[in-house]
Amino acid sequence: MEVAAGQTRVDDKVMWWFSGRCRSCDMQVESDGEAPMPDEYRDLILRSSGHYGVHVLNRSAMSLNVIRKATLRSVADISPLELPGLVATGTETEMRLLYDNLVANGLNQSEVELRLAPP
Ligand SMILES: [Zn+2]
Repeated sequence: MEVAAGQTRVDDKVMWWFSGRCRSCDMQVESDGEAPMPDEYRDLILRSSGHYGVHVLNRSAMSLNVIRKATLRSVADISPLELPGLVATGTETEMRLLYDNLVANGLNQSEVELRLAPP
């Protein structure tokens, strides 16, 4: 199988797509939908583009509330909250959405960082 997968952001949702083609018989499989993306497809993105992480550098009670609120809508892998620190990991699209949600909910841009996580 030749496979490809991706995610697109539509407003505050993550939409996903997958496409595969059999090399021997040329049969094609296509699929798409709204998050949560099936793990076997999502792993393709993580393997090719890496894991991204959102770090919150501020330790205030306000940060905790903002993180809880913003992560409710996220499909990411949420870490136990220890601030300052990594609050979630996922694909770049998922983490950019979380980052934007955190900033839209009141965290300052200097208090939030989006980083490509080490493998
Ligand atoms: Zn085939």
